[in-house]
Amino acid sequence: MTRFANFCAGPASMPTAVLERAQAEMLDWQGLGTSVMEISHRSTDYIEVAQKAEANLRKLMGISDEYAVLFLQGGATLQFSAIPLNLMNGGVADYLETGTWSNKAYKEAKRYEALGLGQVNLVAAGSQTQFSDIPDPSTWQLTKGASYFHYCPNETIHGVQMFDVPKVDTPIVADMSSCILSEPISVDKFGLIYAGAQKNIGPAGLTLVIIRKDLLEQASEWCPMVMNYNNQHTNDSMLNTPSTYAWYLSGLVFEWLLEQGGVEAIAKVNHTKAKTLYAAIDGSDFYHNTVNPNHRSIMNVPFHLADNSLDKRFLEESKKAGLLNLKGHRAVGGMRASIYNAITLEQVQALAAFMAEFERRYG
Ligand SMILES: *Cc1c(COP(=O)(O)O)cnc(C)c1O
Repeated sequence: MTRFANFCAGPASMPTAVLERAQAEMLDWQGLGTSVMEISHRSTDYIEVAQKAEANLRKLMGISDEYAVLFLQGGATLQFSAIPLNLMNGGVADYLETGTWSNKAYKEAKRYEALGLGQVNLVAAGSQTQFSDIPDPSTWQLTKGASYFHYCPNETIHGVQMFDVPKVDTPIVADMSSCILSEPISVDKFGLIYAGAQKNIGPAGLTLVIIRKDLLEQASEWCPMVMNYNNQHTNDSMLNTPSTYAWYLSGLVFEWLLEQGGVEAIAKVNHTKAKTLYAAIDGSDFYHNTVNPNHRSIMNVPFHLADNSLDKRFLEESKKAGLLNLKGHRAVGGMRASIYNAITLEQVQALAAFMAEFERRYG
């Protein structure tokens, strides 16, 4: 068996140990004679899986009882719609734009103005710097008494990350799809955190929402019942059939993370991985990354070859070397290495070594 280093942005690499365990448990889960994906989500066996996953996530992130944790579907994109429906409540929602994803969230929220759900305000537009930097907070047009402030701490496509939580005095809503569990955060600084699982947690099909309980009861009467956070909370995320297998696999990833020493320990590895890769890029004129060094993502590292006529060859040869999915997003071009928790330091070192060797031959 060969498992290559897979730098895909999402769905992304999973820890091999987790896949091996899932494989071993696949046909006969816990002596039941069926797989876990073949049992009712309302069975006591499954509810144990679900509760254990939540308990371990709470442990990993330090989530207090003041927060509800929901295991939903529809990806982060569905949350772009669900958030205004649940939280706007006739007020003004502030949106900071720092890349493709926060832009999409803003545009989706904006559509609700026509329904009279509230107003949507663009706080600052990162597009003015081609998303290579974060707009200076002194230029942000914040709304006093806004319903909430939405941002995306890690922009997966442009590789731009905000390491400090913005200082605003309205509930903060954060799209953490590509940075959740990558380093410790203070959950209590947030009103709502959401993340699709397929980047840094598990397989596609599961979306986490962590919401402060006092924000649960303001949904619009237009909010569909599966998107209503309070409704999902009171039904333990089982209003309808949840993504049971993705939930189970995510639970295995949480156990694996705890075995690695938790988020603090994995964050150290993540910072070393990022440092290694940025050093490989900065150490030569052959490669470059245009993001402000203070805001370079530790999870998604886009880079360009100075001579982009070599891009195709770089991709072919890296693939042959067992380094997969390095093609950059079409909006940015060039290359991108996504180095989520499941990517090891050795795999990043192998990429850096390949880059040096490629430059030696074609530079
Ligand atoms: C991938 C991604 C999304 C979109 O996720 P879906 O699950 O495909 O809806 C949204 N936001 C961020 C930050 C992402 O990385």
